Amino acid sequence: MPDTHANLRAAAAQLWINPHRDAAAPSATAVCGTTPDPADMQAAQDRLGRFAPLLAQLFPELAASHGQIESPLTPVPAMQRAMGLPAEQGRLWVKADHSLPVAGSIKARGGFHEVLEWAEQLALAHGVLAADGDYRGLAAPAARAMFARHQVAVGSTGNLGMAIGVMAAALGFRAVVHMSTEAKEWKKNRLRQHGVQVIEHAGDYEQAVAQGRELAVADPLCHFVDDERSVSLFIGYSAAALHLRDQLQAQDVVVDAEHPLLVYIPCGVGGAPSGIAWGLHQLFGEHVHCFFAEPVQSPCFLVQMLAEPGSHPAVYDYGLTNQTQADGLAIPRASLLAAQAMRSILAGVITVQDQTLFDNLALLHASQGMRIEPSAAAGFSGPLQLREHALASAGANHVVWTTGGLLVPEAQFQEFLLRSKG
Ligand SMILES: *Cc1c(COP(=O)(O)O)cnc(C)c1O
Repeated sequence: MPDTHANLRAAAAQLWINPHRDAAAPSATAVCGTTPDPADMQAAQDRLGRFAPLLAQLFPELAASHGQIESPLTPVPAMQRAMGLPAEQGRLWVKADHSLPVAGSIKARGGFHEVLEWAEQLALAHGVLAADGDYRGLAAPAARAMFARHQVAVGSTGNLGMAIGVMAAALGFRAVVHMSTEAKEWKKNRLRQHGVQVIEHAGDYEQAVAQGRELAVADPLCHFVDDERSVSLFIGYSAAALHLRDQLQAQDVVVDAEHPLLVYIPCGVGGAPSGIAWGLHQLFGEHVHCFFAEPVQSPCFLVQMLAEPGSHPAVYDYGLTNQTQADGLAIPRASLLAAQAMRSILAGVITVQDQTLFDNLALLHASQGMRIEPSAAAGFSGPLQLREHALASAGANHVVWTTGGLLVPEAQFQEFLLRSKG
């Protein structure tokens, strides 16, 4: 038996298999007291569809996709060879959320959904949108003036703030982003250029969220996007599963007992990967196996999965620092909502050294020409860590979710490359 706790303390990379996974678990696990069902996932996708014509108008980069914000599912044979993953252990794919337009990260999914859901509710309540109306009307002065009286706030290590801030400002909201210390300077600058107010906090991500939440409750016209508790974010992320299912079908990828689908998703607070894993579980049941990938210094989700029911430990409790170059994953304590949703669904967790992130980032760039940020490289360790596992068979498909990178400045990307050993 591997000693998971000792590995955590030693900051050693490891694979943990979830002993509570129950392939036959009811698909509707309660999340935060409410029980989302597949209809919610579809409703989120429909909502994004209703807003698409407006988004195509607000963001020139969305004109070609008619306002749809999606990413390719791509086979990456050159990366598979470079990594040394033999064909007998399955086929390697990338779900390229690093290329998601406007936000440049997976946060486009949940983050945009929550801002748009709130905008929709306000617009209907204030009579600037009819129930079956044309959403492009929300770009008109009456709607924008109404949005301008309202504020959207969020606490973030960077990417969630970029998604929420840019979308909220584009609709005309006042937007405030509370940033923690590890947030990168270029992310703050980009937000300021978009008219977003950036408030910097001295502490970690958790403190930035807590302070933002506190300021927001005092203001009835403020909507706080709560990364640790939001069902709207969760459901927004889950809609990715519907699109992935269609992409797998279009590329003749079968998912069944002989062809397990293994999905590796970088995990911070846990909202994004849990939403997606939950969605995939609705669609593929026992044949999908989702693994979350975390830095060895910030394995908050693994820590929570090991915790006694009712407790909420932090990575600091294991003597870890929460210091990692994977800024999107530098989270000390997991979302309880996400952990609860994953208890019987999650296949496992892998933890990764920062050096491995840089090495895989460089390998992916050299082999496939893809540009990702360090957080987004975490999943590539998964297929190799599962080498000895029965799931890693010739019929398996390994999907590595690359979660961010599009907006990383060139100079910053070159620095990432310099940190690889290759
Ligand atoms: C936010 C983020 C994640 C993880 O999402 P959580 O909801 O925090 O778990 C992964 N990768 C990148 C690049 C991110 O920005």
